[in-house]
Amino acid sequence: MSVLNINAIRDDFPILHQQINGQPLVYLDNAATSQKPKQVIDAVSDFYQQDNANIHRGVHQLSQRATDAYEGARDKVRQFLNAASDKEIIFTRGATEAVNLVAQSFLRPKLQAGDEILISYLEHHANIVPWQMLCEQTGAKLNVIPMTQSGELDLSDLDNLLTSRTKMLAIGHVSNALGTINPVKAITAKARAKAIPVLIDGAQAVPHMAVDVTDIDCDFYVLSGHKMFAPTGIGALYGRETLLAAMPPYQGGGDMILSVSFEQTIYNELPYKFEAGTPHIAGAIGLGAAIEYMWSIGLDNIAAQEHHLLQLATDKIRALPGVEIIGTSANKAAVLSFMIEGVHPHDVGTIFDQDGVAIRTGHHCAQPVMAFYDIPATARASFAFYNNEAEVEALIRAILKTQELFS
Ligand code: PMP
Repeated sequence: MSVLNINAIRDDFPILHQQINGQPLVYLDNAATSQKPKQVIDAVSDFYQQDNANIHRGVHQLSQRATDAYEGARDKVRQFLNAASDKEIIFTRGATEAVNLVAQSFLRPKLQAGDEILISYLEHHANIVPWQMLCEQTGAKLNVIPMTQSGELDLSDLDNLLTSRTKMLAIGHVSNALGTINPVKAITAKARAKAIPVLIDGAQAVPHMAVDVTDIDCDFYVLSGHKMFAPTGIGALYGRETLLAAMPPYQGGGDMILSVSFEQTIYNELPYKFEAGTPHIAGAIGLGAAIEYMWSIGLDNIAAQEHHLLQLATDKIRALPGVEIIGTSANKAAVLSFMIEGVHPHDVGTIFDQDGVAIRTGHHCAQPVMAFYDIPATARASFAFYNNEAEVEALIRAILKTQELFS
């Protein structure tokens, strides 16, 4: 039994109360993007209705209120990740932009032909392609930590993969395709013992569990707001202050400067050096509100409710003949990838939608994982704490109906 009052929580999410094809919406596509509680929607709406102004530059009251709200949100992200200083939190468009920022601003100036970047088989394309582009630009080599049949990282050869030429280890915290939770703290310790910087892609971790970058001791940690109940178009990069301070800016423009003349520009201090132009002020405020909301539910309660739903759905699916779960690690966040024998995942998704059950089908921007299993796609149900047991039942009914249609 959950300690949470899920019905009351669901009342916070207006979008959940609708019908799709005459059936109640069952939203199980949370790994693609999460829904937003009215506390977040109101924070964004209130900002535009009461405080909207550009930040940092104005002496008038609206500008000061907007600046306070924006910087207040930054401090919430800092607390949320347990970073030491607000200077270590850079607002970005999302996890993707944060990885690109680190690739281009931190690593590119250091990288030489023959150097190596280590990622893993389980990565989302956002934590593959920016490093691949960097390899093309510099002649560096991309190495990959292999995976096992259960969808976990095969770390047996990690010591040898972390070579004297490895200049970066970039690894996901939670796999978006399979849900596997990677042992990022132990992996980070191994890399840092060899003075190799570590970036962790936390896009799929932060919606589900408490994350402490000081404890993990990573150098960079990236997240996307929209996966954690905040608006799209806002995310954050945590970076160790000493590293950020030494990095050149990622983009040039207003707000990231202290002074500009045609002869010389002096860059602003952290974190503003990395926030060129007018940022997504309302988005950052929405992210702050989402963090407040998650705190009000309790991060441990969120993890417990999702674990319960994942376990329930896993047990029920395992009992069904002709359905295979892809990714069977015992250490998973709320993602369930599966295949129904004889049915293409896209057909699965379409049939589910007829009954209002929203799941994702496809390669989940993790094509190497699909290639590993030699499948084109999976059907993926992903849970949030606002999902309930009745929705797990709806998922099972949709699977049975699909099987019946294709029998
Ligand atoms: N990493 C992972 C593990 C993800 O699941 C996603 C989003 N699917 C991203 C990175 C990229 O996030 P965004 O598209 O919000 O930048």
